[in-house]
Amino acid sequence: MSAEEALEYIKLHPEGALQSDLWKNLKIDSRKCSRIVAKLLKDNLITREVESADGIRTYRLFCAEKSRGRRFDPLLALDAFEPCAGCIEDCVPEHCSKLSEWIFSIVMGVEGEVAIEKIGPLKLRQ
Ligand code: SF4
Repeated sequence: MSAEEALEYIKLHPEGALQSDLWKNLKIDSRKCSRIVAKLLKDNLITREVESADGIRTYRLFCAEKSRGRRFDPLLALDAFEPCAGCIEDCVPEHCSKLSEWIFSIVMGVEGEVAIEKIGPLKLRQ
């Protein structure tokens, strides 16, 4: 099995493929699979996250071009990250322009971004 075949298998699993399933499904041993995964990681073709499957530590592998969309899409609106994540400001959500802009961009999509540029973020608080 080649790295290309492993990458194709990973691409077929947009929710991520467990490394422990990868070597079993492609009928290779785990050591060879680890080498292939290391090459794909080195080439920035995949990303991975530690996961436990049946009490055994393994990795969930994601195609790099799709890895962002899977877990973080709920926190993104038009590629803008949800502003509350990691925010340390005094919080009054009803008056937060960052939160308002983010919600507005979700509701309005691309048109919302254009509208924000036209009217400015301060007017969103009215
Ligand atoms: S609402 Fe505004 S101030 Fe509050 S956590 Fe979110 S970004 Fe920060």
